[in-house]
Amino acid sequence: MKPGNYICTVCNYIYDDQKGEPRQEIAPDIPFTSLPPTFVCPECSADKEMFQPCSCVSLEEAQSERIQNLCA
Ligand SMILES: [Zn+2]
Repeated sequence: MKPGNYICTVCNYIYDDQKGEPRQEIAPDIPFTSLPPTFVCPECSADKEMFQPCSCVSLEEAQSERIQNLCA
């Protein structure tokens, strides 16, 4: 279990708070819950609301986890 990751339920993009998101000018070590409300998925422009907590560390793992338990 790796806390801090959030997954976009639309396109499976994973926000890793240890990496941040350079495309959104998000510095590393910013928790997802501390992101500005204007943050959107860099891949599909989905709102923050479309993200959910996820222990996944890779897209492949995310996809297999979602099949098993929706990453809950
Ligand atoms: Zn997305």
